[in-house]
Order: sequence, then C-alpha cells, then structure tokens
Amino acid sequence: MSQQTAETSTDTAFEAAYEAARKSLAEGGVPIGAALARNGQVIASGHNERVQHGDPIAHGEMSALRAAGRQKSYRDTTLYTTLAPCAMCTGTIIQFKIPRVVVGEARTFDGEFDLLRSRGVEVVVLDDQRCVDMMRSFQEEHAELWAEDIAE
Ligand SMILES: [Zn+2]
Repeated sequence: MSQQTAETSTDTAFEAAYEAARKSLAEGGVPIGAALARNGQVIASGHNERVQHGDPIAHGEMSALRAAGRQKSYRDTTLYTTLAPCAMCTGTIIQFKIPRVVVGEARTFDGEFDLLRSRGVEVVVLDDQRCVDMMRSFQEEHAELWAEDIAE
C-alpha cells in the first residue's frame, strides 16, 4: 500500500466516524462516532446511542464494534473515534487487542491515553477542530446529558 493510499484511507475511516457523530447529533443524541477499519477499509461505524436506545453502554466505540460483528482478530485493525476513549471503551480496546486508535480530539475529554499506551496501544490524536467545536457546543447545550454519559 502506498503512503498516499494509506492517508486517503485514514481520512475515509475518520470521516465515517465523524459522519456517525453528526448523525447522532441530528437525532438528538450524544455526538460521538467511531469506525473500525482494516487495511484502510471501513468494516463498520457507529455512534453513541445513550439517548436513541436508552443504552448507557452504547458509546460510539462500542456501537462501532457491535456493528462490525464478530472478528477473528483485531490485531490488524484501527479504531477511529471522534473523542478520546473513556475507561469502558479503553477496556474494550485492550480486551480485543486493537493495536491502534485514531482520536479526533482530546481537548473536551482527555480519556485514558496513559492506560492505552501502557498496554501498548498506539494513540494518534488528530486534534480535529470540527470535533472540538461539536463537543463544546454539545457540552454547553446539554450539560446534564454529557455529565450522565461520563458518569460525573
Ligand atoms: Zn466510551
């Protein structure tokens, strides 16, 4: 795979996560999306479904992994997410031995990077301004819902 292809594919997978977050926002949900990819190909994407399905465990990362279904191995996959993963999602990433996580932003929630890295997971932070703006607006407009999602 050429470098150009790799970059293009990375963009495609991250955009799938971002679009999932936008979809959740449009549905009145928490705007966090994720996508699982292998060799630059998106296997599945998903978004937070706390509001939509009343499911507190359905964070964006969890929804994407559920949508991807059973995988024999995750060792050749990358998980893309619009926001730094929480402790629950970090645990799942470690459990499934996903080696690489690409994160949209970690300014509005700093997540569990130390834990991920301590377990050998490569963490890439894009610092995508669209993700920062989307989360800041949501956290201001739906402070209670955001606090509920991160159990604060
Ligand atoms: Zn989470």
